[in-house]
Amino acid sequence: MSSIHRKVKFRAFLTALSCIVLLHSFTTPAEVYERNGIKWPFPTQIISAYTDVTGNYSTALNQAITNFNTSTQVHLSRHDGAPWVAQVQNYGAVDWEGMSKTNTGNGVYTVTWARSKVNTAYIPASTAVSRIKILWLHELCHVWGLGHTTNPRTVMYWNVATPYANGISSLTSDEINGINSIYRKGAIMKRTKAIGVAIAVLICATCTLSACSTDTTQAQADDGTSSSHGQTNGSTSTEFSRVKLYETLDDLAADSSLIVIGTAEAVEVTHDIDGLTPFSVFNVAVSEVLKGDVAVGDTVVMRQTGGEGDPGVLEDGQTALLYLTPTGLDGELASQYYPVGVTAGVYVLDGDVAALSADNDSAATFSHTVTDTGDSIPNVLSLEEAKDSL
Ligand SMILES: [Zn+2]
Repeated sequence: MSSIHRKVKFRAFLTALSCIVLLHSFTTPAEVYERNGIKWPFPTQIISAYTDVTGNYSTALNQAITNFNTSTQVHLSRHDGAPWVAQVQNYGAVDWEGMSKTNTGNGVYTVTWARSKVNTAYIPASTAVSRIKILWLHELCHVWGLGHTTNPRTVMYWNVATPYANGISSLTSDEINGINSIYRKGAIMKRTKAIGVAIAVLICATCTLSACSTDTTQAQADDGTSSSHGQTNGSTSTEFSRVKLYETLDDLAADSSLIVIGTAEAVEVTHDIDGLTPFSVFNVAVSEVLKGDVAVGDTVVMRQTGGEGDPGVLEDGQTALLYLTPTGLDGELASQYYPVGVTAGVYVLDGDVAALSADNDSAATFSHTVTDTGDSIPNVLSLEEAKDSL
């Protein structure tokens, strides 16, 4: 064969190869799932639904569980006394409609306990089962080990209202592939799953025989203040399913009743809403008012989801630019404020507080301490930019 013939043949081969690659990229949907580093030691788990999981919340949870059991390599069943609990409570205008908290053991990514929550302030009991189902799926996927995606046609998009509006209310191939990549496919996996199911059945049978307590307060608080399972080591992670993602600073400002600069004095970490979830309460001494009906020198009480050291939670003594909204809660909590957009409305002052007392304080800058949230607003903001957005 001449060298020209060989060249022509080689070119034809290259063309065919690139066609195959091109075709493949069009026909195979790109996998966008993200892993969050969490993994259970077994693919079979039990979830305890608290007594507040009733009506549509309960039906939707059952449908979500069936979706996992029929579509993925993992298996889930409902029974009291498990280290994974599902809760439904009114957390007020906290800007998350669902939340997952997970504790992982020391050194290895094995879960020791988990919580999946639904906020009735945004998802009332009358909400369609399919809408609650996609929220449960999202929260349960976090606990199985998936993070958020940027694809608005997946269950794991930042806020589930978007995929639901796109017609999605069941696990997509993306979540299925993601979960199966963590709890690997194959014979070993099937055997492990079978053993896990057998153990789960045995636990349930034992529980039934011994009239197992239906007390659902056995789990320790998120900050490990009490522990019946003796598992307070390791690290805790929190993932929110946001109600709204902010595209512009103007949007954030428009949703805020108060925009102030203030210095936070930590008051307490409380579990006053559901007995488990930590909220940090601060007295904020106001030093500048950008919007709202407060004065310099006033004290505003702010509560934030999370305890000491949780990402995005203010620290005692920090000065911050805060976008705030009333909690919408009852009683004495009614006068408190939440940051708008969970952490989106919390900008901590960069550098020294003296910058604010200078004549040109508009040059002072403030920064988010959590930057990967799905919002498109700036993570660093000058006071001048903040004022310009009003
Ligand atoms: Zn989420």
